[in-house]
Amino acid sequence: MAKPRNPIAVNRLFTNVYICRRCNAKVRSGKRDDVKCRKCNSKSMRLKNKDIKG
Ligand SMILES: [Zn+2]
Repeated sequence: MAKPRNPIAVNRLFTNVYICRRCNAKVRSGKRDDVKCRKCNSKSMRLKNKDIKG
């Protein structure tokens, strides 16, 4: 995995941001559990910060 350039910016951009596995919608939530997609109501979400590339 690539090293984040600016930890503060990365933190702000990617903390509490989840991506729907079904429709790839971005959902912001402070909750760690029970994150639901607002588009398709799918509960299979992944953290955006697991997807940093480059
Ligand atoms: Zn979705």
